[in-house]
Amino acid sequence: MRRAAFASVLLAASLAHGQDASAVIERATGPSSHLESDLRVLTDQIGGRVTGGANYTRALQWGIEAFRRAGVDSVRLESYPVPAQWEGISASASVVSPSAIPLRVVSLGLAPSTSGPLTAALVDAGDGHNADFERLGTSARGAIVLVHNKPMNSFEDLFAEYIGGPEIMQSAVEHGAAALLFISTRPRDLLYRHTITWGPIAPLPMAQVAREDGLRLARLVAEGTAPRVTLDVRNRVGGPGEAQNVVAEIRGAERPDEIVLLGAHLDAWDLGTGALDNGVNCALVVDVARVVAAGPRPKRTIRFVLFTGEEAGLLGSHGYVRAHRDELDRHVAVVIHDIGDGKITGYFTNGRPDIDDPVRALLAPVASRGAGGVDEEAILGTDNFDFLLEGVPNLVANQDTSRYLADYHAESDTFDKVDPELARGNAAIAAVTVLGLANSPKPIGPRQSRQEILKILDDSRWKLAAQMKIYGVWPDWESGKRGRAQ
Ligand SMILES: [Zn+2]
Repeated sequence: MRRAAFASVLLAASLAHGQDASAVIERATGPSSHLESDLRVLTDQIGGRVTGGANYTRALQWGIEAFRRAGVDSVRLESYPVPAQWEGISASASVVSPSAIPLRVVSLGLAPSTSGPLTAALVDAGDGHNADFERLGTSARGAIVLVHNKPMNSFEDLFAEYIGGPEIMQSAVEHGAAALLFISTRPRDLLYRHTITWGPIAPLPMAQVAREDGLRLARLVAEGTAPRVTLDVRNRVGGPGEAQNVVAEIRGAERPDEIVLLGAHLDAWDLGTGALDNGVNCALVVDVARVVAAGPRPKRTIRFVLFTGEEAGLLGSHGYVRAHRDELDRHVAVVIHDIGDGKITGYFTNGRPDIDDPVRALLAPVASRGAGGVDEEAILGTDNFDFLLEGVPNLVANQDTSRYLADYHAESDTFDKVDPELARGNAAIAAVTVLGLANSPKPIGPRQSRQEILKILDDSRWKLAAQMKIYGVWPDWESGKRGRAQ
């Protein structure tokens, strides 16, 4: 076994790339890289870019022009349907009695506006579980309900916050709350934007209050001062519409109908400028296109996609998969980058141990850069997910998260947080990976059947089925409307 695996690694290093990996790495990390300047324009000049919002069209245009400069064969916009339109306009709040205290707040994403300023009693629902609302009884009715959050120090904390959201929102609706006020998980006044619903507008106004303000409010409630709060949230909310992904292509020389997809999401929450999440990886995707275009033409077609609607619930990648259903058999692999500029240690293979060895072999030329690892974990939270549901081999860059979490979705996610040298190193790894996939004699693995996909969803290590149920995605999978039907 060991000897066979070793031999396959050597074979892959010499044959799979069809071009000199060191030249690819040099093109990605050398002075011709546009990654830093492209990212500077996207973040500083354009800024936060909510799908359908004020900066959205400029961001799409940025993608089109950057791909053209990179030398791709073609670039186009592809439309897909979105269930609702949403953009944050303003949010303000203050305690109005027994004394006046200003509060720092933002609306959650996809939450509706209050109908003008809403003044109501503030009640504390602790962690916001259904039992907490039961304990509040009728006092939650018509109230602004404060919900606590633990400080976020790890991905596990972040997932706990996401996973808890739907139950809190549902309980608030059932108990007649007028609005929810979540305490920020980040100290020092830092605000960020999340969404609880995936696509549709939430059933009640929901805002986040700065951690220091929120803890003060909790103490005021506990001390029996019965604070009343005014909350004024104004969002632009609209019905169903369309959004667009940016899709560029470099055609394959030998098997142009077979597709390797490299993608990252272009949309970003708008409190900061979406530098780590996920501007840096959009600039990476564009720069990998430049690196590929500057070398010998790959055997298979490489498609470079900047998805939108990711933050609103993976809408762009879902839309892509629906629009390209007829050619998914010919998508040999999909590679997604979405963890900022953290150093890549390899790729998540998303519940597919059968592709671990082939991916390791592709990564052999960058193993000395610390990027040779594979991790079988299956990931739900980014644009690989609908490809996983379709059985297409899908990889997500596994990156050091220590530089990512503190600024995640926050006001502080700005260009200055990005280390361009780290990002260029990641671009080299991505370029070697997609060229390996495009030039290898055989695809890394077959498209899976529904039965095989279901096994991944049911795997108790990843709990994807449970998460899909919480986010309301499960019924569409179960009915065959979303994902591979057989
Ligand atoms: Zn992201």
